[in-house]
Amino acid sequence: MRTRLLFPSLLLLGSLSLTAACSSGSSGASDSATAGARPGPSSGTSPVRAVDPSKIRGLRIVNDNGENSSCPFATSYPDVPGATAMTDAMKKDVEQRLATFRQLCDDDPTGADGRELNISHQFLVASGNVLGVRLTTQDRTAAGGGLRTRTYWYDGKAGADRTALALVGDGSRGAFIAALKKQLKGRDGTDAGTVDEAFADRSNVVAILDDMAFTADGGLRVTFDRDEVGAAAAGRYVVAFSKATVTPWLSGFGKRAQHQTVQPSRSLDLGATATPAPAVPTHTASGDDDTDCKKVRCIALTFDDGPAAPETATLLTYLAQYHARATFFVVGQNVAAHADLVRAEARAGHEVGNHSWNHPDLTKLTPEEVTYQLNHTSAAIKAATGKAPTLFRPPYGAVNSTVRSATKLSPVLWTLDTEDWKYPDSAKVAQSVIAKVQRNDVVLMHDIHATSVAAVPEILRTLSARGYRFVTVSHLRATM
Ligand code: ZN
Repeated sequence: MRTRLLFPSLLLLGSLSLTAACSSGSSGASDSATAGARPGPSSGTSPVRAVDPSKIRGLRIVNDNGENSSCPFATSYPDVPGATAMTDAMKKDVEQRLATFRQLCDDDPTGADGRELNISHQFLVASGNVLGVRLTTQDRTAAGGGLRTRTYWYDGKAGADRTALALVGDGSRGAFIAALKKQLKGRDGTDAGTVDEAFADRSNVVAILDDMAFTADGGLRVTFDRDEVGAAAAGRYVVAFSKATVTPWLSGFGKRAQHQTVQPSRSLDLGATATPAPAVPTHTASGDDDTDCKKVRCIALTFDDGPAAPETATLLTYLAQYHARATFFVVGQNVAAHADLVRAEARAGHEVGNHSWNHPDLTKLTPEEVTYQLNHTSAAIKAATGKAPTLFRPPYGAVNSTVRSATKLSPVLWTLDTEDWKYPDSAKVAQSVIAKVQRNDVVLMHDIHATSVAAVPEILRTLSARGYRFVTVSHLRATM
């Protein structure tokens, strides 16, 4: 039996590549990384069905990104109206993880250890009265333990959040755990003793069974993080059960979650009071921009990490008021949630560029992973706007020859950094541009922060009066 070497770094895409993880039966550590950086047909069970989050009314993605290259982090989790208890659980987990990471940065500000924290999200089920989300944490610190995944479940019928283990009925947990143990024993890195030990403590059982999700054909996949079961060196294990095997063990909630995975209803109803859909600006650009940056003073404002509701919508309204064009470097998982906002950006004459799927430092990925991060995002942009992007901005500005050669997109950095993510102060953000800006600057801002968006009218008003014109990055490059 060949022992696979595990590279948790491959799994930055975890939430996606997990869907393609193979289930290797009764032996062998199952490693989702070996399935590569792309979801696709697996040798075992059907992958998790893709959920379209743009159909979830009132959805908000909570993003917090630190753009400092000595303490780089990007976290996200969804806030779905009606699922407050589940949102609170994700918020608590994300904030705890982030606090630990930031403490580490404070203790050793050099950042020389290659540290990075990335928490991304994936919807598993969002229909009927069931919501399921997986958070994938890639922690590149010595104590961080690499890749961790956890699924969060919400039962809209009961109005309560659920552990993954609650997918299994109380009376069937003994049989379920016995079957899991049988599958795990004998895999590389485990033996009867270590498996029994992992399940011996009842409070530990809920903790290690914290990633369970159905496959498109109704089977159940249970994923164990590194060092939860067996030898840490063996990495992650996936145990898959067929629909026929698992169905008798499921709780009422588990059966509904299974059904909504296999045959999703058209909409999600968690019993929340109707959430008014946030307004999306309808401004339409009048033709091409004829600004000649050789003759007039141009600036390219760029906004990264969005789209975000409602911040991006507000920003689009401000830009329209001043006939300003800008460039949005969007994150794929936010495009999936807010395709309507990306469509509105393009319709208003702004440029939409690629900022990766979930904001990793691309220089720490393999070429295949870089390609996947960018291609998957370009596809989401094209689906939303009808047009594929030509530019990308590498997260943290981190780019090298491997990243450049993994894509045809042209990298765009910046010439003026507002550091707006550091200062939640609109006046300060506005001044950071107004006081320093020079002709043909590419200005870096982030439209996930309300304070950054609130700084924009002052920037547009003051600089318009000084004769500046606001153009897209491609327009600036073509005419300066
Ligand atoms: Zn960014």
